[in-house]
Amino acid sequence: MPRAHVLLLNPALGPLDYRADREHAVEPGSVVLAPLGPRQMVGVVWEEESLPSADQVGDNRLRPLLGVYDVPPIQAPLRRLIEWTSNYYLAPPAAVLRMALPSSSALDGSRTITEYRATGVAPDRMTPQREQALDRIGQRQGLIRELATITDVSEAVIRGLVKTGAIEAVTVSIDTPWSSPDPDHAPPDLSDEQQLAAGMITDAVKAREFHPFLLDGVTGSGKTEVYFEAIAEALRQDRQVLVLLPEIALTEPFLKRFEARFGHLPVAWHSELRQSQRRRAWRGLAIGDAKVVVGARSALFLPYRDLGLIIVDEAHETSFKQEDGVLYHARDVAVMRAKLEAIPVVLASATPAIETRQQAAIGRYTELKLTARHGAAEMPEIIAIDLLQEPPPRGRWIAPSLVKAMAERIERKEQSLLFLNRRGYAPLTLCRSCGHRFQCPNCTAWMVEHRLLQRLQCHHCGHNMPPPRACPECKEEDALVACGPGVERIADEVAALFPDARVVIATSDTLNTPARAAEFVERMEAGDVDVVVGTQLITKGYHFPELTLVGVIDADLGLSGGDLRAAERSFQQIAQVAGRAGRGEKPGTVYIQTHSPGAPVIQALLSGDVASFYEAETEARRMADAPPFGRFAAIIVSSEKLDDATSAARLIGRSAPRVDGMHVFGPAPAPLAMLRGRHRQRLLVHARRSLDVQDVMREWLGALEWPRSVRVAVDVDPYSF
Ligand code: ADP
Ligand code: ZN
Repeated sequence: MPRAHVLLLNPALGPLDYRADREHAVEPGSVVLAPLGPRQMVGVVWEEESLPSADQVGDNRLRPLLGVYDVPPIQAPLRRLIEWTSNYYLAPPAAVLRMALPSSSALDGSRTITEYRATGVAPDRMTPQREQALDRIGQRQGLIRELATITDVSEAVIRGLVKTGAIEAVTVSIDTPWSSPDPDHAPPDLSDEQQLAAGMITDAVKAREFHPFLLDGVTGSGKTEVYFEAIAEALRQDRQVLVLLPEIALTEPFLKRFEARFGHLPVAWHSELRQSQRRRAWRGLAIGDAKVVVGARSALFLPYRDLGLIIVDEAHETSFKQEDGVLYHARDVAVMRAKLEAIPVVLASATPAIETRQQAAIGRYTELKLTARHGAAEMPEIIAIDLLQEPPPRGRWIAPSLVKAMAERIERKEQSLLFLNRRGYAPLTLCRSCGHRFQCPNCTAWMVEHRLLQRLQCHHCGHNMPPPRACPECKEEDALVACGPGVERIADEVAALFPDARVVIATSDTLNTPARAAEFVERMEAGDVDVVVGTQLITKGYHFPELTLVGVIDADLGLSGGDLRAAERSFQQIAQVAGRAGRGEKPGTVYIQTHSPGAPVIQALLSGDVASFYEAETEARRMADAPPFGRFAAIIVSSEKLDDATSAARLIGRSAPRVDGMHVFGPAPAPLAMLRGRHRQRLLVHARRSLDVQDVMREWLGALEWPRSVRVAVDVDPYSF
């Protein structure tokens, strides 16, 4: 009797066996519906040998499958990727599989979906909730649940508005085909350097074999144009392309640029998509009619019909590291997917990670260099401002020479960008009278004042409250003072210095939707902005030709973290933000405010001798046997009960096996000792690269038990060490 070995979408379960009757012809990869207790669940048929069951059920006790979905089977390379990811990151295979499949409703036969939108007709009875909903819906359309979320009202409010006719149902077809981008729509003339790099990648696309590239080009050198050529080649071969971007905010400008080059939009994939958009995209790429997908990390696990090329743009970005659920690094998984699919992968960056540089140095990745900016644009001039020599006036953060440079730019109608990686108005609020500091009740973190929102906010759990007038500790009134600057405070300073300047704050608070990000780009391009004050969100990808001045408010901020990655991260951030200056015909200047102008990071930026800086950093990693040489894995033990967390962490520490080439540090309080109300302890496992540390950890942790309140998460290749 035919058995079907099925991996269900339930992370708590391993694969289960079912009976596949004749009308349910299945093969590995088939997407099926199976009974589970009294319920039904979606799953994928898997090879028994690659994911064995814990225990075999006799033939006579098998339950029959309920059905097979009419969607293309999950192909073997993706099944292998799911297994690899699950093994490498110690995550349940079903948790990884979830990222490959849409919700079950999207799999059924229906080719339409019902969405809702405002009609413009006023409801017979208006309530504040209804008013808020209609106000915020605007031109938007979506499921009832989606509209409720966007407008911050309950679903019942939206349903009530449907009854009164203020909102109507519309039927959306998810079968509208995708138009194919045209590889020859508007190709640019490439420079010799670009041509050489593009030729190498297109050859690899033609060869249809695994080939990792590091496209290492200075900011503004035209890396995008280079990988566009490779995309064009994949399109000519009628194959699909995945482009991974680090932030949703970058999708919008990318779509425009892609459309200009290829005549049609690519398919976007990110968390902000509506259900109907998601279903249409999923079907399109699964049947192969959607050719180019641009997306966030999660697009990596989608079931492309015939993937021919993967691009990871801004490949050094930390946001490629997933810090929730399955803790994977999208850059590394992208390379693995390319290997399993036997296709080229391009990691593009002006500031590649040491891990990536090392792969190039030992010849695993082919390095392609772009050393000059495109056209007439020159690399910006970089100037350090020693804050000890030239301090800003009391209560201000912009040094006089930077103020002067800004004045000149405003005069010439050019744009300036001030960079400070701190959202909000001030990072800390304290009471002048008793010294009380506002701390988040759920996290080891200060409450950050957001003056625009009139809230104190925790940046880790979202807890927020209105700023009180009186100190909760000593009851003194009007004694609370903001300490230190955030972007809002810098924006205030700019407004005070230049009352007529048009100032925009660019952070994840202000550019939090694709529409807002697009509006920001439009205003910049139209010359409606004089000064941008922004966080790391603004450091990458953007191309504004009239932006000629960048000021780094506090270059020492990133170095305070103290982990082995601090100098590298700091260099990347400043080099990236500096890279926004002078990308057009006008030359750019970058001012870096620092208390330690002699620090290696600052010296590397000033001298342009990046190679020596990286050599020293790489050497420091080698001495510490840190990545890319040795490896780390963090074990985070958390519980709402402090005692449970510490005793479970101690138990794990005590039971660590003695293995040659492995060393366990801790437990100690994790960097965020309390997060969202959970106490966190961390153990750091250090291992020789040749050791299969995952295997050791599986056995070690698998043999232990801890109280139900305790959660244990393993972070393989953690970002900080
Ligand atoms: P990077 O991604 O390396 O920072 P971009 O690809 O954004 O650089 O290129 C910088 C600017 O130069 C963009 O406006 C881009 O359109 C332009 N550019 C780059 N290469 C060419 C080319 N060969 N022909 C015309 N414009 C180009
Ligand atoms: Zn918090």
